[in-house]
Amino acid sequence: MAPAPLRLLLGLGLGLGLGLVPVPVAARARARDGPPPPGPPNLVLILADDLGYGDLGSSGHPRSATPHLDRMAAAGLRFTDFYATCPLCSPSRASLLTGRYQTRSGLFPGVLYPGSRGGLPLAEVTVAEVLAARGYLTGMAGKWHLGVGANGSFLPPHQGFQRFLGVPYSHDQGPCQNLTCFPPAERCWGTCDQGVVPVPLLDNLTVLQQPLDLPGLERRYVRFAQQLMADAARLHRPFFLYYSSHHTHYPQFGGAEFVGRSGRGPFGDALLELDAAVGAILGTLEELGLQKDTLVFFTADNGPETMRMWRGGSAGLLKCGKGTTYEGGVREPALAYWPGHIQPGVTRELASTLDLLPTLAALAGAQLPNVTLDGFDLSPLLLGTGKSPRQSLFYYPPAPDEVLGVFAVRYGRYKAHFFTQGAFHSDTTPDQDCHGLTPLTAHDPPLLFDLDTDPGENYELLRGGRRGEPGVLQALKDTRLLKATFDALMVFGPSQVGRGLDPALQLCCSPGCRPWPSCCRCQ
Ligand code: MG
Repeated sequence: MAPAPLRLLLGLGLGLGLGLVPVPVAARARARDGPPPPGPPNLVLILADDLGYGDLGSSGHPRSATPHLDRMAAAGLRFTDFYATCPLCSPSRASLLTGRYQTRSGLFPGVLYPGSRGGLPLAEVTVAEVLAARGYLTGMAGKWHLGVGANGSFLPPHQGFQRFLGVPYSHDQGPCQNLTCFPPAERCWGTCDQGVVPVPLLDNLTVLQQPLDLPGLERRYVRFAQQLMADAARLHRPFFLYYSSHHTHYPQFGGAEFVGRSGRGPFGDALLELDAAVGAILGTLEELGLQKDTLVFFTADNGPETMRMWRGGSAGLLKCGKGTTYEGGVREPALAYWPGHIQPGVTRELASTLDLLPTLAALAGAQLPNVTLDGFDLSPLLLGTGKSPRQSLFYYPPAPDEVLGVFAVRYGRYKAHFFTQGAFHSDTTPDQDCHGLTPLTAHDPPLLFDLDTDPGENYELLRGGRRGEPGVLQALKDTRLLKATFDALMVFGPSQVGRGLDPALQLCCSPGCRPWPSCCRCQ
């Protein structure tokens, strides 16, 4: 829980190949024949990468083909005001898994690299550890981006995941020329990181492929997910699946059956494959008879990378995207789907990835870790018995520091920017506030916006016609007090990214080979 002072205040025949991986017959039969599984629900957390607020069909994008996610939105609870804690991958994921702001765990500044010495400290308690202690079968497929460490000491098998198939970081953190993204004609477009090992695919702590085969990746992840769910059903054990897709992070890729199929170019094709993976997971739950025993939650780690232009995502009506503390950087699509338990609808309650650990723990009947948590239990909101306890939200930039503190505060409908800064990730839009060369700027009084009437952050209240409104003046006071209190109480952990790089920590499938690092190749 937050410190007390702060608490005051399926369709489309494009289910394609992914849905066709069969569930083992024995597991299917036993799941049907056995008694209804008593005890805690199964939990599936699906995380998209660099997906914007405006990217799904259900959030209004005219050319996105996302029939399975749209079905989840129609039959589940759709959040309008759901937030990640940072407009970048590693910090956002640290918060998601721990229920704590990334400043506590030290996941800053920026993101981790293939040779980073740091990672999510093992002393941090992840939602996987919380649920494993409750008897859950835990597994993760996809992108980790919370460190590798010596002998893989920071990888998911050391953070509560009993099974792991995935990539330790982003798939552009290796030479793109080794990655075939859009077969057969096109190699990956643009630039990726050079001078590091080709991107590996791991099976627990073992390199399975290097470089990884991108077009076949999502299919592998889906198979892993289906196996985990089938095994858990056979064992009559609840499961926690963290499905952390690389879609729709740059560079976009897809299986051959998705390329050129979306009508929205490479980004839309990648999103189409992600959507098919969601459809395959939902389909497997239905086949196993587990759909009423399983909460499926979908969201994303940060906003769109508009510097990729038409190959990047869309924040829709929100301002800027990845790398910034404007709404487009951190406000995300979020869907909670649990037939028979969660009523279909839309909620405008404030919520965050921080709240997932306490919420899933509550639903599972698991014990919360004995640490300072920044999240709240949203289970009453999900189950229709109450509201979100969250009244406020704090926006950290990619490189937070203790002197400046949080850049912005949301309290109720109001948001105050105390500092703003552009980001190269948010370049190329017509709005210069978003761009990488737009410097850090302090605002006193803060820039104040009413997000209920102006989610696009276009009309500043204190410098416009609403400055005299009592609600506006009160919001100014409240947000100032919240910032001062929150910053004073926040204890920064030692920076993990700041521990620097050791090239020897990069994962290589043939240690000692030459010429390093390009020789690290195994299929
Ligand atoms: Mg990301």
